[in-house]
Amino acid sequence: MTKSYSQLAAQLKRLDVGKVLVDEPLSKHNSWKIGGTADLLIEPGSVEQTAATVRFVREQQVPLVVIGQGTNLLFDDAGVRGLVLKIGEQLSGIQITGQRIVAGGGAWVPQLAKLSMRAGLTGLEHTIGIPGTVGGLVMMNGGSQRKGIGENVVRVKIIDAASNVKLLSRAECDFSYRHSALQGTGCVVVEVELECPSGRRTEVRREMIDDLRTRRQKLPRKQPNCGSVFLSTSEMHASVGPPGKIIEDAGLKGCRVGQAEVSHQHANFIVNLGGASSADILGLIAKIRKTVSQQIGFDLLCEVRYVSPNGGISPAHLAAE
Ligand SMILES: Cc1cc2nc3c(=O)[nH]c(=O)nc-3n(C[C@H](O)[C@H](O)[C@H](O)COP(=O)(O)OP(=O)(O)OC[C@H]3O[C@@H](n4cnc5c(N)ncnc54)[C@H](O)[C@@H]3O)c2cc1C
Repeated sequence: MTKSYSQLAAQLKRLDVGKVLVDEPLSKHNSWKIGGTADLLIEPGSVEQTAATVRFVREQQVPLVVIGQGTNLLFDDAGVRGLVLKIGEQLSGIQITGQRIVAGGGAWVPQLAKLSMRAGLTGLEHTIGIPGTVGGLVMMNGGSQRKGIGENVVRVKIIDAASNVKLLSRAECDFSYRHSALQGTGCVVVEVELECPSGRRTEVRREMIDDLRTRRQKLPRKQPNCGSVFLSTSEMHASVGPPGKIIEDAGLKGCRVGQAEVSHQHANFIVNLGGASSADILGLIAKIRKTVSQQIGFDLLCEVRYVSPNGGISPAHLAAE
């Protein structure tokens, strides 16, 4: 690539792809509040603008990183030498007709859960406390209480890496625990159709309130974090227990590397005490994995994704090795 990023930004502005930011601090776009700058950050206002951006990066051979609210991401202190495409507020519409919900990729998950409850639907109670976007949730097949959003997905509208709009069925998404076939394809989730059965509104509401109360009691709220750092599969629960307990039993609560600390409230959370670097987080992840492996011979794997400066996205433990 021979053009400078300011030239590319000027071209993108002419193409009218939405909000175009140059040298944007990534710490403003993730819940750990970590990371250097992105050469370019685009916030498209429509599916068409999203497709135009994907076409542009392909033609110009610019590395592309797609993000939502950055609540499951660790950016490097060196930032991203490429274009970060943020699917957010401007693609966040939610329409409910009967038992069908159509939500934009940038829709806010707690809002989706709340509106489904108000419409008398059940099935999304477990998502009420997940502070990300619908696109990120589908990509990660996120959820809680051993559930995943994939259970309610009917279709996902994506823009593929060749900038074509496609509709994928639930079967094509091949959801499994915190996994979907969309991962690693370079696609952008722009819209999701969900189906939820009718439920008793008062029960659904009570369940959501209970979930939020439990989260308030158990999870760190004030210090920047990225939710659960390590995966918690049912096989793991059966053999060694949940990651929070394993890490706590290993004596690692409060353990620090630089400004990154294993939360005193929940040991599967790493909090940023203020000014933590990506190296601090990766160092602490490595330390936790090494200690646990030495003590009980179990390899903890990360749910959190690390974004490398060249735009590669991988489970963070792979970068912590
Ligand atoms: C306090 C806290 C509590 C949490 N609790 C839970 C929980 O209970 N259960 C759970 O599953 N997660 C939980 N998380 C993690 C996180 O909120 C979820 O994984 C969420 O779904 C990620 O959404 P996001 O918009 O922030 O995605 P991001 O973090 O921005 O991205 C996550 C992944 O999805 C991709 N992606 C994001 N949007 C798109 C899109 N539109 N198109 C294509 N790819 C996209 C990114 O490239 C990345 O690989 C929690 C996080 C925090 C901070």
